[in-house]
Amino acid sequence: MEIINRRQRMSSVARKIRRERDKTIGLVPTMGALHEGHLSLVREARRMCEIVIVSVFVNPTQFGPGEDFEKYPRNLTKDTSLLTDYNVDYIFAPTPEEIYSKGYATYVNVEGLSEQLEGGSRPGHFKGVATVVTILLNTIRPDFAFFGQKDAQQALIIRRLVKDLAFDTEIVILPTVREDSGLAISSRNLYLTPEEQASAAVIHQALTRAKTAYKEGERSAGRLEILVRSTIELEPRARVDYVTVVDAETLEHLDRLDERPILIAVAAYIGKTRLIDNTILNKRKETGQLKLG
Ligand code: AMP
Repeated sequence: MEIINRRQRMSSVARKIRRERDKTIGLVPTMGALHEGHLSLVREARRMCEIVIVSVFVNPTQFGPGEDFEKYPRNLTKDTSLLTDYNVDYIFAPTPEEIYSKGYATYVNVEGLSEQLEGGSRPGHFKGVATVVTILLNTIRPDFAFFGQKDAQQALIIRRLVKDLAFDTEIVILPTVREDSGLAISSRNLYLTPEEQASAAVIHQALTRAKTAYKEGERSAGRLEILVRSTIELEPRARVDYVTVVDAETLEHLDRLDERPILIAVAAYIGKTRLIDNTILNKRKETGQLKLG
């Protein structure tokens, strides 16, 4: 396994793999502090592709002022040893200056899917995400890129981006990996005390209650939102940022629910840590993945 820090080098290595060796490349973009969620993506990339590249880059442009860019967990030594065990071929770990060189001025914005939910609470977040993913896809030109359903809105935005800008990369979205308690695994769980970890399980419990209520016939989006919100707020350490029930493909708000795929998305603070999670009702069967028209 080789660790690459330079964009030029990553670009020329990937070009060689494509042209001279004619091998399929899978890219797993991450911000590091790797956990089972990331590793599930790496495992699938390893299964599907001949060459696996994992990028580790805490992307400054997707963090807002006052967010946790500075304190975001970084541990490339540990990440490297995990990825060695998974037989990854390359780690791409550039510095911010390497990605955003002096005079950097170009941003990518996926309109219509970026302003609500996470984008509402974190203005500019998805502009940063779409921009860095564009740079990674252009640098590496992978056949496949792997993302998690844990970041449902991000997954939709990336599918839209790849389609709109005609990238020759297939996007693969994989299910959320959870702790036994149901808590979605996240690098930010490292911020939680053991008591907060236990409390954080309430987010998944609330989503599960909503799923059950829907199965039992509840069709009011508003009532499902209230059910999720009130379940989370029974936990004294938790404070809801938003709970939204939307069309899982367009993110449009719904009043009455029908049989289309529906996304219930939550952001909540547990103590000072902001966590997100979601569930999809009526997931499409063919691929288990979201589709865009
Ligand atoms: P991050 O390092 O948080 O930017 O995440 C990198 C990728 O891993 C993104 O595509 C995430 O959606 C995905 N991911 C993070 N946590 C999980 C999880 N618990 N299960 C599945 N995928 C995840």
